[in-house]
Amino acid sequence: MSQMSLLFLLLFSLSCLFALSSAAKSTRVFTLMAGFGTHGYHHPRRCDPQPVEAFAPVRASHLAARGAFVGPPGSTTGWAYPGFVLTVTIEHTCRIIVSIDHQEQTGVGIVRQGFGQLLFVCPSCTRWRRNLYVKDGVLACRRCNRLDYSSRHRHRSDAARAVNLATKVRHRLGADSAPFGPLPPRPGHHGSARVYDRLVARLAALESRALMAFADTLAAVERRARKRKRLR
Ligand SMILES: [Zn+2]
Repeated sequence: MSQMSLLFLLLFSLSCLFALSSAAKSTRVFTLMAGFGTHGYHHPRRCDPQPVEAFAPVRASHLAARGAFVGPPGSTTGWAYPGFVLTVTIEHTCRIIVSIDHQEQTGVGIVRQGFGQLLFVCPSCTRWRRNLYVKDGVLACRRCNRLDYSSRHRHRSDAARAVNLATKVRHRLGADSAPFGPLPPRPGHHGSARVYDRLVARLAALESRALMAFADTLAAVERRARKRKRLR
């Protein structure tokens, strides 16, 4: 493959990736990805296929602001969340008993930090958490319920991540968001020019990283194609 055709292929791939990343942003699809090195096999996911955004958070501050933790010991209140009902019974000022859909009761500690911030003590791992989540009728923190943010499962490959970060830098520069597109002129003001130079240097590093990652990927594809040819 000649150098010109390889460069054209790289630029075309980057443009396709940019278009795909824009589409993914607009639809917010939670996707599974397989790397080139896995022969199409998906690595087993250690987290729930649903992102944390799909679960309604049980916020300590939200409940406290609505008076869930105020009252004599033994007082009970019910709170309707999307998909479940949370029943809160006050044990004392630093501990409540909760049950999901009137099922098994669980004790949950409450930590009061400075500036009136409230945190839950996760019933499973005892870490201090701002939010707890209900999954399969169990109240626990994000980590114990194996929930992950959807953003951590998009743009996982190095090239895609570099293109995504480069697009953000281009947005800050007020430039065309397509990779390798033209940049606006350098501003005359000393402070703005310094910021411009910093962003342009970062953009150049990101776009060259994306190119190198694509070159590696293409080389891997070519190697695999040659190997297949030899085996035939
Ligand atoms: Zn936990």
